[in-house]
Amino acid sequence: MKAIKIVGDEEAENCDFLVCIAADSPSPFDDNLTGFCSECGVKVQFRWHAPRKPKRICIFCAAKLGAKP
Ligand SMILES: [Zn+2]
Repeated sequence: MKAIKIVGDEEAENCDFLVCIAADSPSPFDDNLTGFCSECGVKVQFRWHAPRKPKRICIFCAAKLGAKP
């Protein structure tokens, strides 16, 4: 199983995936953008300053792909 590394904003621009929480999850921010998980297509939300290049995936797909907290 492939391990997923958790990194900061700068390094994140060059990452494979951006892990997002579900669009209907409570968030402390009211200016989040929404998109779709590139794996399962579920609606997700992410910060407006999040990197654009990595593929967005939801936390469930991230767990399946082997992300470690
Ligand atoms: Zn997903």
